[in-house]
This record gives sequence, C-alpha cells and structure tokens, in this order.
Amino acid sequence: MAGKYFFVDTTRCTACRGCQIACKNWNKQRASKTTQYGSYQNPSDLDGNTFRLVRFMEHPSKQNSMVWYFFTEACRHCLKPACQKKADQIKKGAIVVNDFGAVLFTKETKELEKAFKAIKQACPWSIPTWNKKDRQIVKCHMCHDRVAAGLPTSCSKACPTGALNFGEEAAIKKLANERLAAAKKKFGGKGEILDLDDVRVLYLIIDEQSKYRPVAI
Ligand code: SF4
Ligand code: SF4
Repeated sequence: MAGKYFFVDTTRCTACRGCQIACKNWNKQRASKTTQYGSYQNPSDLDGNTFRLVRFMEHPSKQNSMVWYFFTEACRHCLKPACQKKADQIKKGAIVVNDFGAVLFTKETKELEKAFKAIKQACPWSIPTWNKKDRQIVKCHMCHDRVAAGLPTSCSKACPTGALNFGEEAAIKKLANERLAAAKKKFGGKGEILDLDDVRVLYLIIDEQSKYRPVAI
C-alpha cells in the first residue's frame, strides 16, 4: 500500500523539541506535570497529553567525555498494526487505518479501558497511552486532518534541521536512502534504516538501537 511516510534522520536532531511542542500546539494539549529525575528529557515518557517525545540518551564516549543521542518518538503507523489486531479481538473498528496509512484510535477506544494494558503491550514500542480527561486510548494520529487538507504534519513542519520529514512513500524512501549513504560516508560505514518493511516511520541511526531508546519501557 502506498501512502504517507515519515523519515527521521537522528544524525540531524539537535533536541530542540520543536516537533514535540508543535504536536502539543496542534492537539491543544496542556503541559504534563514532571519532576526533576536527572535528565533533560521532559516528560519522562509519552502520555495522554504528549503524542511525540524527544528522548535524550546519554552515553560514555571515547572521543569526548559523553555523547548524546536524541530520538523523536511517536507511533510508527505500522503496516500491520499489532495494536489494531489486539483491539479487534474486543471491539472491531475501534482502531482503523485510513487511506494514506494513518493508524487511528477512534472514540470507540473509550470502551476499551479494561483492554488498554493489553493493547499497549501488543505495541512493539509501548506507544498507546490513556488520556484520563477524555477517557480514551490516544497516540499520534499522523495529523490526518491536516494531511487530508494537503498540509504537512505539524511536527515535521516545525523541524528546523531536516531531521523529521514527512511525505509520499517514494519521496521519503528516496530521501532515506540518500541520507543513509551520506551518513555511511560521514560516520565510517555506520548507519541503518530501522524496520523498513514494517512501518511508516523510518529511522536512520548510526549506532546500536538500544542506545537510542530504553529497550524495555
Ligand atoms: Fe499501533 Fe504501536 Fe504500531 Fe502505533 S507503533 S500502529 S500504536 S502497534
Ligand atoms: Fe503530533 Fe501530528 Fe506529529 Fe503525530 S503527526 S506526532 S499528532 S504533530
């Protein structure tokens, strides 16, 4: 199925969090209450008011005292969404995929509160969250309203460095391949695109996956 894709070039992310804030603006979400837990990452995870989060991962480095990897995280809009498969067992149609590939949690997920934990566990990245105010399961909806009107997603429009990109499948995959080649040249052969055949959000990384986000969340 063709449709819309994201491409995230982690080598260009400066953790400005423009994408995170643009998402909040478009979705009219309030700030999440946080505490100081020793990281610049804020909030500590996705939540009912945060559909996109820039993760900060800090590691020792041979060249410098430490190195930071930044990772803008949201739903991957899977080609075969495990969340939908799980939800369908309880209420068919509560999670749907639209004509350009956005995986959408409808208002019918309000009836899935008891199944929320199982749906979250079904997601390989533990993305779905529970919105206490609306009493509904929520996550990134690929700005389907903006995209249907011919606009880019709010988060990708806000990115000033070309780290977060959005568009048609062919154009995004072409860009991903070009950036992969450039990364390999710049970083001594390192670089890979994650989950290329399974998701609509393609990540370019230059180190072990586990260094970009906690393995078990
Ligand atoms: Fe569903 Fe998780 Fe895939 Fe998003 S990333 S479509 S929540 S399984
Ligand atoms: Fe938020 Fe829209 Fe970006 Fe999804 S596509 S993370 S809803 S701004």
